[in-house]
Amino acid sequence: MVDWQKSVVSNGGVRLAVFEVGTDSGAPEAGSRPTVLLIHGWPDSHHLWTHVAPVLAEDFRVVAYDCRGFGESDRPDGDDPYRLDLLADDIFAVAEAISPDQPVHVVAHDWGSVQAWEAVTRRGAETRIASFVSVSGPNLDHLAEWARGSLSRPTPRNVGRAASQVASSAYTVFFQLPVLPRLFFGATGSPAVWREFLYRVEGTPRENVVVGDTLRDDMISGLRLYRANIRAKLRRPSTRDTHVPVLEVVNERDIALRPAIFDDTHRHTQRLWRRSTPTGHWLPYTNPGYLARTARDFIAGQTGTADSASQFDRARVFGTPKPLSGKLAVITGAGSGIGRETALALAEQGCELVLADIDLAAADDTARESKTFGVQASTFAVDVSDTAAVTAFAEAVRDRHGVADIVVNNAGIGLAGGALDATDEQVDRLLDVNLRGVISGSRAFGRQMVDRGVGGHIVNVASAAAFTPQRSLGLYSASKAGVLLFSESLRAELAEHRIGVSAICPGIVDTNIVGNTPIAGLDTETEASQRDRMNRFYQRRGFTPDRVARDIVRAVIRNKAVVPVTPEAKVGYRIYRFTPWLSRFAARQKVTR
Ligand code: NAD
Repeated sequence: MVDWQKSVVSNGGVRLAVFEVGTDSGAPEAGSRPTVLLIHGWPDSHHLWTHVAPVLAEDFRVVAYDCRGFGESDRPDGDDPYRLDLLADDIFAVAEAISPDQPVHVVAHDWGSVQAWEAVTRRGAETRIASFVSVSGPNLDHLAEWARGSLSRPTPRNVGRAASQVASSAYTVFFQLPVLPRLFFGATGSPAVWREFLYRVEGTPRENVVVGDTLRDDMISGLRLYRANIRAKLRRPSTRDTHVPVLEVVNERDIALRPAIFDDTHRHTQRLWRRSTPTGHWLPYTNPGYLARTARDFIAGQTGTADSASQFDRARVFGTPKPLSGKLAVITGAGSGIGRETALALAEQGCELVLADIDLAAADDTARESKTFGVQASTFAVDVSDTAAVTAFAEAVRDRHGVADIVVNNAGIGLAGGALDATDEQVDRLLDVNLRGVISGSRAFGRQMVDRGVGGHIVNVASAAAFTPQRSLGLYSASKAGVLLFSESLRAELAEHRIGVSAICPGIVDTNIVGNTPIAGLDTETEASQRDRMNRFYQRRGFTPDRVARDIVRAVIRNKAVVPVTPEAKVGYRIYRFTPWLSRFAARQKVTR
């Protein structure tokens, strides 16, 4: 439990209860450490920060306060005292009282963040507020401008996005009604009901939801925030820029706010960073460790005190963010073919890349080209068939770059010819690279994603061979069918952690793979001439790896389970499922290309 030490700050006659994390909570003496000010939203109080504050207190002096109308602070009568300009005054009053000599770093959630936006867009705010971490609380002026912009260009996409946000905000209309919401929260506003609600809506562990005795009163008096501000702001937005560095923590599964509303923040924020994860609205309760570490690293970056600042470089926003902007993506087999094109496609999305290949020089080439998209890319020499090496690789990535958001287990090799003709060494190598490599990568990076607790995505590159039996490709098919079924099962296993798993099943794609594929049971000369013929066939087919990469990006964005790529893969997938006898008949045919 946090040892909160209470004091009172007055602003224009309104007394605000201020709580500082005491040294009994394990925090070192305040000294000259930067001060972090935590601001809660509706219907919370300083208790919202129960799990976040102690982590931040390891590095900073941490102070929270109950906003007017909540917790142990005054509750002035009427709606007018809850106007955003007055709430912003409260922030400056508290900041001045707790840290008269140094600006504070603000971390704010929900309505706390809405108020903080009002404060940071005030002229000269940067002299009192050194940085701002905004969690699930938009700038209402930006929101109004975004809504007007969407409706003034009524493309299906814009209208759809606006309609989706209106649906998510429908509750705010109810909150502004005169009597009903008071009666509703009077009847239901108990801690037990609130815990159950958060658990049902976003899986918040019930024990994480720490609330004060005033919860029911806070729910009711906090309704004045909605009445005093929403209509006024939407009718008369006055968009102003901020010079304060802002980190926008975007929760992609927020029940109240659609991620698209944050797309234009960069227009009014000179220094903006963004962290987007498949998390819900009440991050301080649901994923407090992630939020605390993210805020700590950002603030440390702003104060120039941490190496981890570099982990924020990829999160810097310069234009309208793309769906995967700022994510950390790891790709194996990135030196050639599908892996290389996937790296370029993810670079175009604005991902930071970690590229692994057994051929380091090839991975370096891909990294050089990826950087032309303005992203960071680093390389590792890894043989994915070596489980210990993959585990060490995953640990090195976490230590140097943070936990990966996207992992593409792509490295693979071919083996053709009869199953009885291959040598034991060829079989071992094939399974070690194609199947064991995918399993090791999924396990090592998957564990990190689960521990971090805010989701992620694993892409495993299988093949149409996984569902297209062929007499001369049985061993390769076995390795890829293993990848497919492993991925489908892993998807089920990791769903509760919001980690998506996609199996990509390309058909015939023109890459270097055929040129490196041994054909078992043939003398060297025949093998070389057959390989040449196969290569020419793949080239004539002309399906390029960038098209597979496009499907990989789409699979991540849309969380697809199985993606057959190329027409023959799509047809083969259906034949295998619906007319397996046809698939068996085709498998027996001798193919001469
Ligand atoms: P490619 O040969 O062009 O690229 C494969 C890359 O993986 C190379 O850079 C190679 O150095 C690397 N690699 C090989 N073994 C490795 C190991 N042990 N550790 C780390 N890196 C290693 O081949 P590609 O066609 O781009 O293949 C990519 C994936 O797509 C493979 O899993 C392959 O089985 C699969 N696939 C390819 C096709 C196709 O027609 N090209 C079809 C279906 C599936």
